[in-house]
Amino acid sequence: MSEQSRPWYRELHWQILIGLVVGVLAGMVFGESVTIVSPLGDVFLRLLRMVIVPLVVSSLVVGTTGIGDATRIGRLGGKAALYYLATSMASIFVGLIAVNLIRPGVGAEVPLQEVPEGLSVGVDSIGGLLLRIIPSNPIQAMADGDMLGIIFFSLVLGIFTNQLPADQKRTIVGFFSAFFDLMMRVTDFIIRLAPIGVFALMAKVVGTAGIEVFGPLLKFMLTVVLSLGTHAFLTLPLALYLITGRNPIEYARSLSPALLTAFSSASSSATLPLTMDCVERRAGVPNQVSSFVLPLGATVNMDGTALYECVAAMFIAQVYGIEISFSEQILVFFTALLASIGAAGIPMAGLVMIAVVLRAVGLPMEGVGLILAVDRVLDMCRTSVNVWSDSVGAAIIARWENLE
Ligand code: ASP
Repeated sequence: MSEQSRPWYRELHWQILIGLVVGVLAGMVFGESVTIVSPLGDVFLRLLRMVIVPLVVSSLVVGTTGIGDATRIGRLGGKAALYYLATSMASIFVGLIAVNLIRPGVGAEVPLQEVPEGLSVGVDSIGGLLLRIIPSNPIQAMADGDMLGIIFFSLVLGIFTNQLPADQKRTIVGFFSAFFDLMMRVTDFIIRLAPIGVFALMAKVVGTAGIEVFGPLLKFMLTVVLSLGTHAFLTLPLALYLITGRNPIEYARSLSPALLTAFSSASSSATLPLTMDCVERRAGVPNQVSSFVLPLGATVNMDGTALYECVAAMFIAQVYGIEISFSEQILVFFTALLASIGAAGIPMAGLVMIAVVLRAVGLPMEGVGLILAVDRVLDMCRTSVNVWSDSVGAAIIARWENLE
């Protein structure tokens, strides 16, 4: 059957959307007992995590050998960094304006929840970020899923493969491209499970969420969602359209399996295989760019998280009645940026990193407990924005590199 004549419900994005809606309904109707379906969500996420490392390594080696010399890779890295910084800063800016206009924390009576033990892990990790890029043991980096180390090692492999004699180079490139195709096939298979996975993940979130805690935080949630929406539906599509000429709606449709999975899993790392598959296979962005920009982006480019760090810190200050001066707001702006770079692509990572921002402006650390109750829902929203920004970045950088 051709693409055109297929009934709408055979389209993957509709199937995933139906999975999402049915999951929400099941969670609402059955409450906590719906957790009986959670193993389905766990299987989906485990399958995705299973392919991350082999997919990223093979894709990057193939991509790097395709790009050619180290200078060109350096230039690509520079452009990626420029894109990451520009969009993260634009996103924080929107959040900062919104939180100052709406002032969601002023006069809010929010119950303070105790922050669970162990949540502070990783807060001090920003300083070591640069050094950690070089893995002292690449196999260990792969085993630990240390993405920056994996990216660095794969780049080294790719760059030096290009310097091998032709026949040896052919062997290495042949092996890695075959391996990459193999991993893409596995990912294609996992994508088909997305409707079921998304259904189970959503059912669990809704079934176990206590909606009653949302009340005092509604204004805060609204501020976050409105600003994330502005960035996702206005800033990024505009940048995509103006720079690449692509239709943002079409692009988002190609990306929908990844975006909806990001939403339901709240993990941009776990979503990475789907992001790579959608950006390359469905949206047609060349592998040389996406193999590099997407894994790096999933690790350091988090527009949604950056915005959240800023809005949350300002909200906490407002609830405590602490005035944040203009110069302190600039400090919040930059620490929010740093915190988003240091945050891992896993659920709740952004919540943990708020401590960095609070510490920088001398706000009480336990303030994180104010927003704990609604973190999951907002995490889902900011993770989709994180993945959307990475994907838009891949198309934009491909255009900057004249690759499409
Ligand atoms: N969950 C987000 C992600 O994976 C990170 C965060 O908590 O903000 O992208």
